Amino acid sequence: MNTNDNLMEKIVSLCKRRGFIFQSSEIYGGLSNTWDYGPFGVELKNNVKCAWWKANVYERDDILGMDAAILMHPKVWEASGHVDNFYDLKSDCKSCKKRFKVADLKDPKKCPECKGELTQGRPFNLMFKTHQGPVEDGAGLIYLRPETAQGMFVNFLNILDSKHPKLPFGLAQVGKAFRNEVTPGNFTFRTREFEQMEIEYFVKPQEADKKLEEWIESRFHWYLNLGIKKENLRKRPHAKDELAHYAKACTDIEYKFPFSAAGGSASGGGWSELEGIANRTDFDLREHAKFSGKDLQYFDDATKEKFYPYIIEPSGGVDRSVLAFLADAYYEEKVKEDIRVVLKLHKDLAPTKVAVLPLLKNRPEIVSLAKKISKDLKKYFITVYDDTAAIGKLYRRQDEVGTLYCVTVDVQSLEDKQVTVRNRDTMEQDRVVIDRLREYLSEKINS
Ligand code: ATP
Repeated sequence: MNTNDNLMEKIVSLCKRRGFIFQSSEIYGGLSNTWDYGPFGVELKNNVKCAWWKANVYERDDILGMDAAILMHPKVWEASGHVDNFYDLKSDCKSCKKRFKVADLKDPKKCPECKGELTQGRPFNLMFKTHQGPVEDGAGLIYLRPETAQGMFVNFLNILDSKHPKLPFGLAQVGKAFRNEVTPGNFTFRTREFEQMEIEYFVKPQEADKKLEEWIESRFHWYLNLGIKKENLRKRPHAKDELAHYAKACTDIEYKFPFSAAGGSASGGGWSELEGIANRTDFDLREHAKFSGKDLQYFDDATKEKFYPYIIEPSGGVDRSVLAFLADAYYEEKVKEDIRVVLKLHKDLAPTKVAVLPLLKNRPEIVSLAKKISKDLKKYFITVYDDTAAIGKLYRRQDEVGTLYCVTVDVQSLEDKQVTVRNRDTMEQDRVVIDRLREYLSEKINS
């Protein structure tokens, strides 16, 4: 059973109850639409970022990693077009005073909530402004980056000079971005502070269309390989009038989120963007060359040609991916008279890999053997020890947070030096010799 009834509410509640995601500043009433990742959340989020980095940096020869600063020279945002173009049109309802993004409205004149009259759409720049230095005047004006991409474009020359890569090659970066969104919401789906995982892939202009298709496939399969169900994932090419000012073509990878379209997507039924893969042409390098006065062309040794490469950009959200992985992994299963809640997260994403549980916590020999096993395993897998409840309850607790294997130490373990290993998904149990436990788990977890 994987019921969709109130799935979003169930996920939000599980996230808070079990320490995945909390509301920011909750003891002060909370900062709306801002979220903090707790002990399990930070592990899951780190695992998503690591899986992305592994697939896109470590497993390829043509991508280099970077980590640029959030604060950048204000001219960057003039060159990128964000100062002039990074607007959402917003409308206010004259009756209930609520504010809406015009792009989300079915009828741009009528309030979707109270049916009151809406004002004309007004532009609203999404960049957060602040000041650098002690004086808050125009000279110190600086922005919190609304995307990580620009940090890679402005380092193009540094990368060429230090690493001498040949086309096609890419840069990869994971980091925070900030947008003063008009309609944040749907838990962590749309927030004002979020994390992006972006690749800027530099190609010869004539190869751009082909590389765009390759990246769309590669990114689509990344989500499938990490367990997202096929029926919940789709590609949606953008119509010409939807494209950003810099893009020639773009395809979104969408996930069927368990919420209605409002605040989520333009396409309805919960289908909303997880990642966009765009052909940005040579817009970015040309603009930065113009604004900085630096020559940002690429010199091709073989043909002796100098030109601006095109850029293919797969741009995904860490928080949106985490939410999609959680929603996809959430199951409620009937076990005897009970409902078992289990997060069937992919093994690489599960926050905890192993839990070691003593069957009887009033037997010191069992407790001490279990603690020893846990201590040994901690060197190799994220492992926890728990003896705070009866075994059935301990299993349920671990299922709810997606722990892959539960290792149970019982009376017999003292005699035969074996433990019971329970698989999260099948609930099948194997008896394993303690000396072989690490190898047994390693085969399952690291394969
Ligand atoms: P949307 O149309 O949903 O606002 P976008 O097209 O503006 O998204 P991009 O600029 O393409 O988004 O950003 C790339 C990725 O960054 C998105 O696919 C998404 O995963 C993530 N992202 C963008 N804005 C937000 C946000 N406000 N909150 C969380 N993640 C975001």
